Amino acid sequence: MAVPVSQAWTVATYVLKQKLMGKKRYPLVLMLEPLFRCNLACAGCGKIQYPAHILKAELSPEDCFKAVEECGTPMVAIPGGEPLLHPRMPEIVAGLVARKKYVYMCTNALLLKEKLHLFKPSKYLSFSVHVDGEREHHDFGVCREGGYDIAMEGVHAAVAAGFRVTTNTTLFDGADPNSVRRHFDQLMEAGVESMMVSPGYTYDKAPDQKHFLGRARSKKLFRALLSNRKKTWRFNASPMFMEFLMGKKELTCTPWGMPTYSIFGWQKPCYLLQDGYADSFAELMQSVEWANYGTESGNPRCANCMVHSGYEASGVNYTFGSVKGLLQTAKAIFFNTYKDDGANKILNDWRPTNHGQLVQIGSPILSAEAERVNHAESLVAGD
Ligand code: SF4
Repeated sequence: MAVPVSQAWTVATYVLKQKLMGKKRYPLVLMLEPLFRCNLACAGCGKIQYPAHILKAELSPEDCFKAVEECGTPMVAIPGGEPLLHPRMPEIVAGLVARKKYVYMCTNALLLKEKLHLFKPSKYLSFSVHVDGEREHHDFGVCREGGYDIAMEGVHAAVAAGFRVTTNTTLFDGADPNSVRRHFDQLMEAGVESMMVSPGYTYDKAPDQKHFLGRARSKKLFRALLSNRKKTWRFNASPMFMEFLMGKKELTCTPWGMPTYSIFGWQKPCYLLQDGYADSFAELMQSVEWANYGTESGNPRCANCMVHSGYEASGVNYTFGSVKGLLQTAKAIFFNTYKDDGANKILNDWRPTNHGQLVQIGSPILSAEAERVNHAESLVAGD
């Protein structure tokens, strides 16, 4: 099972309850961004280009709990920035666990090993470690030589300490499906509970604009990657979302499915776009003109998007929307290895592209700044 039975049951009953109440739009996972500063400077990131005073700001535990209670989702993902740089992150996580929320704390794991003792293993807590592929590919993606080895050390340490550990892999143009499939084997051997994989999004603030995938290339890549699946692989994404990535199913975006709360408020309309902010979750739901978003809307910023934060909730909604959806999902989970000779041919014919030299975009400066801010705030907090 890719997630504990209690989590699957909690999510299923939550979704069914929303449907019985006749709610057309409901959130599934709160994307809680308590800070934007990071100890990496990845070329595909749209979060770390903020000015220094924004990078220094952060949500308090009370802000986080209020947001969670406002939107009421059963799951909370904590991306960023790097959450482990937040001096009160253990308090935030403990408060969410006490509220029986299933928490995915997203981390690049550079600090995971040294901060592990600040957290307690729980069925409600999973470290979602960002690993973008095998060593060379990951280090290129995060613009940091040695990043892969440190992240995997963090994975091993967390698994050994009894934590739930999942992984989060974002793929950009140039990703080699043969290499990513080997990467899946390595992650499973390292003892991770399950893996999440998604194409990246073309953030207009990201320094590297060349390496984002269009829809047709995404589908080809994911067909090669996710067909002929090994029985040992476990994924923590909706089976219907994964079929969508493989080009086997059409889904429309659910931008309200993973609402984002950060130091700016509730982000309109989704995790990826910033068309203003609302002061409350209710205002977010009421004030966004939802028809203006999603690929079918004709919005050019949505044209190539197949990202997890927009379509995972669509996959879950598809599952619970009809008996057909439930049966297709059950088949996908228990029987389907997605045998596909055409996908094997794509793998055999695939020629890896040279992605050039690894560039550490400003990371030493940014890391130093992040550490300096973190240290100063630790002093203020009396740590
Ligand atoms: S298609 Fe992507 S960018 Fe557009 S609203 Fe949905 S998640 Fe956001």
